[in-house]
Amino acid sequence: MIIINHAGGKIISGASMKDVPNILWLEEIRKEDIISVGGKGASLGEMASIGLPVPKAFVVTAQAFRRFLIETGIEKKIFASYDRLDVENNDALEKAAEGAKGMVLKAKMPAFIRDEIRHAYKKLSAEDMIVAVRSSATAEDLPDASFAGQQETYLNIKGEAALLESVQKCWASLYGARAIYYRAKQGFDDHTVNIAVVVQQLVHSEKAGVMFTSHPITGEPLTIIEGSWGLGEAVVSGSVSPDKYIFDQRSEKVDDILISNKKVEIIADGDHGTKLVEVTGARQDAQVLSPAEITKLATYGKIAENHYGIPQDVEWGIVSGTIYILQSRPITTIGNRKEAKSMAEQNQNVRIILQGQGAAPGIASGRVSIIRDVKDTGSVKEGDILVTKMTNPDMVPAMRKVAAIVTDEGGMTCHAAIVSRELGTPAVVGTKTATHILKNGQIITVDGEKGFIYEGEIPHAAPAPGAAVVQGSTGPSKIITATSVKVNVSIPEAAARAAATGADGVGLLRIEHLILGLNKTPGWFIANNREEDFVRELHDGIKIVLDAFPGKPVWVRTLDAPTDEFRNMMGGETEPHEHNPMLGWRGIRRDLQSPDQFRLQVESFKRLWKEGYENLGIMFPMVSHPDEFLAAKAMMKACGVDVEHVTLGIMIEIPSSAIMIEDFIKCGIKFASFGTNDLVQYTLAIDRNNENVADMYQPQHPAVLHLIHTAIQTCRAYDVECSICGQAGSDPKMACWLVEHGIASISANIDAIAKIREAVARTEKRIILEAARNRDAE
Ligand code: PEP
Ligand code: MG
Repeated sequence: MIIINHAGGKIISGASMKDVPNILWLEEIRKEDIISVGGKGASLGEMASIGLPVPKAFVVTAQAFRRFLIETGIEKKIFASYDRLDVENNDALEKAAEGAKGMVLKAKMPAFIRDEIRHAYKKLSAEDMIVAVRSSATAEDLPDASFAGQQETYLNIKGEAALLESVQKCWASLYGARAIYYRAKQGFDDHTVNIAVVVQQLVHSEKAGVMFTSHPITGEPLTIIEGSWGLGEAVVSGSVSPDKYIFDQRSEKVDDILISNKKVEIIADGDHGTKLVEVTGARQDAQVLSPAEITKLATYGKIAENHYGIPQDVEWGIVSGTIYILQSRPITTIGNRKEAKSMAEQNQNVRIILQGQGAAPGIASGRVSIIRDVKDTGSVKEGDILVTKMTNPDMVPAMRKVAAIVTDEGGMTCHAAIVSRELGTPAVVGTKTATHILKNGQIITVDGEKGFIYEGEIPHAAPAPGAAVVQGSTGPSKIITATSVKVNVSIPEAAARAAATGADGVGLLRIEHLILGLNKTPGWFIANNREEDFVRELHDGIKIVLDAFPGKPVWVRTLDAPTDEFRNMMGGETEPHEHNPMLGWRGIRRDLQSPDQFRLQVESFKRLWKEGYENLGIMFPMVSHPDEFLAAKAMMKACGVDVEHVTLGIMIEIPSSAIMIEDFIKCGIKFASFGTNDLVQYTLAIDRNNENVADMYQPQHPAVLHLIHTAIQTCRAYDVECSICGQAGSDPKMACWLVEHGIASISANIDAIAKIREAVARTEKRIILEAARNRDAE
């Protein structure tokens, strides 16, 4: 329980407010003024002061706000109204927040402050200018007390009356329930918290994006610019694959241009907010920035970097050919800062030789070992970098000993990506040319987070052992969420790491990896009278995972290996050659036509249930019709399983199973789990393993979200657990969306558990607060 106690708190008054005016213009503001203008205001002022083209703005200072509180006589009343508030008590928190906000909103703004704001607004432009009105909170002990999203921003504001109202609303937002809650949690004394308000010309960018003034990892003098159509939000939020431009500061030339297919843009929605629309016609593939714009942007970036003395992450926008710099902050705030610093500090001459998708986080250096055929894996040595077109299950033994993995093909859900994440081995997939460009024996460094391959061995800070696992998983600070956060496992040796995350169970155990690692197809075991070996291998592998998760649900998926993955194995010579194995003979459809193969899997499950593993649930992959579920259930019954008393569920990987979810429920499924890796490819007709269309593979495509939303609602209506185990569940943004839409559990990769748990917890808290607010408002 966290109680706010204002007794003994300092009230900012007298000396600290004496000489600061109510309004400061950007040109007058320097970074030292942060206490008066907040983090946002100070950063804009500093940028304007060095000649960067920042949209016109003024700031209603924190001191103006404090004067408002004093003049209107509400200052003490506000603090008294929530002194000794228990912020964990939602009802009390909401009530206190509403009371304090109400006082600020109802108080009459003193005439002298009102007049100064009006005057400044007129000075901004003779005509009523459309502005953005943004809160910028400050505190004495921490100058920038703005926690993302807690104080309000009002866009598209026009006219004096609307402006004054928005300023007062920004002030009131300092006492929003969420803001009070977070300040209490962070140990702020609310008496010392102030709020400034930035009033700035609204830039309706025709094109916009972000820029790293130097390479974010190596520190090389390469400016990396990403840009797309419309407002910059589309690039920042990742809703679009932007164009990418690399400008070499040494030669002062554009070094590389990568034009992307830009499907959507975010634009102003009339007078209110923004909307996401489709980019039409030739603009989709047109180059967003001209060479002159790239050069100019890079120059602005350099000015900012030189001024701050550290590489910057800059947001920019362009309207009618005019460039605006909207924000600049040190790159060190965007993650991986230790790596970035140490690489740059220790070696300025690092060179990126390849790029792909960062599929398993971590950085490793080593000797390239190119594997063109699985027969060559014998030459792979401990600590090498395995480079291949695409990994196969029979390469897993080699994958275990290497320091990193690089592939030509594949995306975030390919074999190499899944297995590398579980082994904790850095991996970059989909480089297209690694096996051609790299040479056997060459020394390289692989960054599995950013997807870069560097020439040579680059010193980097070693990650704290087990850091990814420990973070947020154990100890007194473990976050409890109402939505279960489970983990995906594919290889039993990852079970201990998976369990150490503190996950609420296993939402997907892919058993094909147990079999594929043996290098013999299920058919081989059957044809060679080695059925017992097959059952034992499965039983023992699954048991390792069950033992790591005592009492927690473990959903084991029946075999789902496409024919091309079986082909290289003993017995694989009889596998059919399919044009598109992803659409072919895999999942439950194959098991139903291969009763012996299915029977042996069921035999291993039966043994485990008999041994008392009641937490074992079985999940059928690739079901497209309820009849398949009924057929599988009937086959299990014929094998002696008490099907009404064990937990049986399905994967939702085919749009038909999302559409027919109610029929599945009526057939008795106990749970359903979105396999978005396949659901996305089957909904959008995008081969998930094809690097040529990787940028069109969009788990957040409206059609995919629509299917997911509808299926979740139906499952909720029937009280059937609805979950996700596809890669999209390891994306915090998607996790927030899923929680908002009512998902019951999320199963993520081992390395993603901590961040998913945090995203889920935040979203749940926000939902509770909003519900409480709405209740009170009624
Ligand atoms: C999926 O399709 O999302 C899934 C988890 O299954 P797999 O990646 O094994 O096809
Ligand atoms: Mg799948």
